Amino acid sequence: NTANIGVVGLAVMGSNLARNLASRTGNTVAVYNRTRAKTDELLAAHPEAGFVPAFSYAEFAASLSTPRTAIIMVKAGAPTDAVIDDLLAVFEPGDIIVDGGNALFHDTIRREQAVRSTGVNFVGMGVSGGEEGALLGPSLMPGGSDESWVTLGPILQSIAAVAEDEPCVTHIGHDGAGHFVKMVHNGIEYADMQLIAEAYDLIRRGTGKTPAEIADVFAQWNAGELDSYLIEITAEVLRQTDAATGAPLVDVIVDQAGAKGTGGWTVQTAIDLGVPVSGIAEAVFARSLSSHPEQRAVSAGLPGPAPKAAVDDVDAFIEDVRLALFASKIVAYSQGFDEIRAGAAAYDWNIDLGAVAKIWRGGCIIRAQFLNRISDAYAAEPDLAVLLTAPFFVDALTRAQDAWRSVVAAAAASGIPSPAFSSSLAYYDGLRADRLPASLIQGQRDFFGAHTYRRTDREGTFHTLWSADRSEVSAQDTH
Ligand code: NDP
Repeated sequence: NTANIGVVGLAVMGSNLARNLASRTGNTVAVYNRTRAKTDELLAAHPEAGFVPAFSYAEFAASLSTPRTAIIMVKAGAPTDAVIDDLLAVFEPGDIIVDGGNALFHDTIRREQAVRSTGVNFVGMGVSGGEEGALLGPSLMPGGSDESWVTLGPILQSIAAVAEDEPCVTHIGHDGAGHFVKMVHNGIEYADMQLIAEAYDLIRRGTGKTPAEIADVFAQWNAGELDSYLIEITAEVLRQTDAATGAPLVDVIVDQAGAKGTGGWTVQTAIDLGVPVSGIAEAVFARSLSSHPEQRAVSAGLPGPAPKAAVDDVDAFIEDVRLALFASKIVAYSQGFDEIRAGAAAYDWNIDLGAVAKIWRGGCIIRAQFLNRISDAYAAEPDLAVLLTAPFFVDALTRAQDAWRSVVAAAAASGIPSPAFSSSLAYYDGLRADRLPASLIQGQRDFFGAHTYRRTDREGTFHTLWSADRSEVSAQDTH
């Protein structure tokens, strides 16, 4: 019983997390992988880590002090279930199994229930930051019981990224809460990336600047309120020249965006919860549209303006795009936090939204200064119904208003697709509208399906007798 923590699954994520754990004082790390070769490789490559290798689950369990704590980092899905079963065969009540893979939160809820019935604790944990994060400090989103957090908390705090002296980990809530929050993180990441891509496209077509010149624009933006990891790496990507052709790399890369599915999960879940995450949805669909070359080929001849904006004042246009990006980004994050709030209500998780914003400030892909403003907003008003109505964001949106509208209008007039910019603006205007045409939709629904409607001036539910004399009846009378 020499190790205080173990890792199962020694592919890139698991071995980096194991090395991270081993590098912190007080930790001795047991390691196990289904295929022995990976364990041997890790031991040979990193003797400094002092790993305790195991070549069977029995050995693995025997090498851990109690309560045993094991982090699973294997392929999400059936492999995770298989490893859980194997661990349950050798673990005892009070021990802790952590799944650090990218599980769908519904699976985590199911697994937590099954594992809990054996007396073992199960923690579904979102891990963000990719390989480098796992090694140097990820953003960690653990769910699970309060009991497991007592043992796990200090270990996770020791390996997480640090932002402004605070570790990027917090106990998110029970069962699937951690994986739910990780899912929405990825959805927001999709939206943020799409918005940046649209900003690049608009500047390129609008001003004729080269990718390298636009890299300078992004680098400059990174020194201001847009300061973030994604803006920073965007500048790096745009500056890159292809060695083989001498062309900007971004012009050599096939323009079809891939996806591993977590953005789609965020949107599907939002639909289930009735939360409008239109920015994230547009980002997911923009990737899908890009990845249908056959549809794009047959559509290439469709009429429209040449996708070039006629910009008179280049600097003013770039500043407008920056403001439009900032405003749209506020919308995307507001929608994402709205989804977390709705998920917490639906699944009875007590999630501290301000704490979520804080743990995303380091280690993860959407890390940004901006997240401080979100945690400030929830600190001032924990029950804030719509994040973008917090004073700081209202100020920002007030400043960005005109620019945002003119950029979206210019994009539409010039035939430059800007789905995330324009849907964010439409969402914003929908929220602030005094009256929405939803009343007409209720009328239509009542007409064809007798779905009834409520009135602005009286309590109750009503139906118009559309196919008779078109008088109105109280809905109770019609059933
Ligand atoms: P992979 O997702 O490629 O999974 C490979 C690992 O899973 C190997 O250790 C493999 O063992 C093990 N495995 C597969 N099937 C089984 C099985 N039936 N029983 C036991 N072990 C099995 O590894 P990654 O390191 O890329 O990712 C690990 C997890 O972390 C995944 O869930 C991933 O989604 C998640 N994640 C990944 C991030 C990333 O940036 N890559 C970021 C955050 C989370 P063997 O060697 O025997 O084949």
